[in-house]
Amino acid sequence: MPKVVIAGAGLVGSLNACFFAKRGWDVEVYEFREDIRTMEHVQGRSINLALSFRGKAALEYVGLKDYITEQGVAMYARMVHEPDGVTTNQQPYGHPGQHIVSINRRHLNEVMITQAEKFPTVKFFFEHKLRDTRIAEGQLIMERLNDKEKIVVTGDLLCGCDGAYSALRRSLMTYPRFNFSQEYIEHGYVELNILPKNNQFAIEPNVFHLWPRGSFCLIALANIDKTFTVTLFAPFNTFEEHLYDDTSVVQFFTKHFPDALQLIGSTELKATFNRVRPSPLVSVKCAPHSFGGRFLLLGDAAHAMVPFFGQGMNCGFEDCLVLSETLDACNNDISKSPRLQIYLHQF
Ligand code: FAD
Repeated sequence: MPKVVIAGAGLVGSLNACFFAKRGWDVEVYEFREDIRTMEHVQGRSINLALSFRGKAALEYVGLKDYITEQGVAMYARMVHEPDGVTTNQQPYGHPGQHIVSINRRHLNEVMITQAEKFPTVKFFFEHKLRDTRIAEGQLIMERLNDKEKIVVTGDLLCGCDGAYSALRRSLMTYPRFNFSQEYIEHGYVELNILPKNNQFAIEPNVFHLWPRGSFCLIALANIDKTFTVTLFAPFNTFEEHLYDDTSVVQFFTKHFPDALQLIGSTELKATFNRVRPSPLVSVKCAPHSFGGRFLLLGDAAHAMVPFFGQGMNCGFEDCLVLSETLDACNNDISKSPRLQIYLHQF
């Protein structure tokens, strides 16, 4: 059977492993972090995400759609909160019954790793970091982090699912005809929480809550434990000029988000702003995404995007589906796929 090597066991890497496991390939996944299933606290990006139709279609292919969506909270509309702190209006996401789903990132990632591991042909190597790429030899160089041993791996396909700061993509940037651009937008984000009230959701759970305020906004997505994850997106200079100490933070929320302040609580608000700094948001574009007939970039490694459309993960999941259809079309023989062969043969 052909073999695929995947760098990165995040959302896209672990789903991609499920796809290749299903087609019977030998699969090796190398992940920089420890196994998140054994970690107490996982550092990283947003706590929950909006899963939409294109993401669900990919999950369906590997038999996970129903299980995953049942573990999330359906959102049928966008609920806009006006600055008066009282008025709201709803904008449906589609026809009655159509919805997106709020999903916990860590849980989703854990489920997909466990699903992939059910196949005997799949092996995960945690605490292994992609360090280098030998394009001409078709090799990836991994470092085993516990003893710094360098391991050379190869396969019929080598996939970079290693996120917005992809090491595989970095290796390609020294080659001619590989295009790359990156932009840090002026906005950063901070995550907050709304706790349950009397063991129930404190506000309507089945909508995407949005407090739009021109250059900045607040959003809230429900979690199945009846909490909400709240995210403030604002330009870094707004954080610096208006959210710099306890008093300014409470004043800012009182002025712009009075209803959200009631729900979050000023103690939690101040504690969070004392503890965390805003995280940056990067957008990455590069081309091509496949080269040398063997190397591929998927997910944020290929196209990291700002989160306002809620499409980064969904688009990365669709990458896995499109790749699978491409391999179906050439009956697993990559050399017969014009789509996978076209680029950068000079490598
Ligand atoms: P990642 O999730 O970054 O995973 C990459 C993996 O590779 C990680 O496990 C990392 O440890 C590993 N890795 C990195 N370097 C190496 C290396 N050298 N060697 C080995 N392993 C390595 N998208 C949506 O669709 N809906 C949303 O609602 C949404 N909300 C978002 C909110 C915020 C605040 C942000 C920041 C993003 C949001 N996104 C959303 C985008 C989404 O998070 C990303 O598109 C998605 O995580 C991409 O998955 P990935 O697997 O490509 O990358």
